[in-house]
Amino acid sequence: MTAQEGTPITPGTCPVCAAPDAFIDQYREGDAYYVECVKCSVYCATRRAFRHFEYLRNKSEPEGLARLARLAAALHARGRGAAARLDYDTWQELAS
Ligand SMILES: [Zn+2]
Repeated sequence: MTAQEGTPITPGTCPVCAAPDAFIDQYREGDAYYVECVKCSVYCATRRAFRHFEYLRNKSEPEGLARLARLAAALHARGRGAAARLDYDTWQELAS
């Protein structure tokens, strides 16, 4: 799976850590986003997971924000190897 060609990657807000200088692109195939973030490194998230992260951020409940912070730390610890894949059903395993 490769990021969509021909479409410039646009700056955006990382849904996990809210860094304002992330780069977000949408895969041409599949319902997923590719994110490059200074804090979280590189990951791809399904649309459902992506929306869920935004939802947790907007809701601003301590538990949800703490989970996102753990996820950001786990992603950061992985470094810039293979992009982590975040799925709505499995992302919490990374954040545990
Ligand atoms: Zn981030």
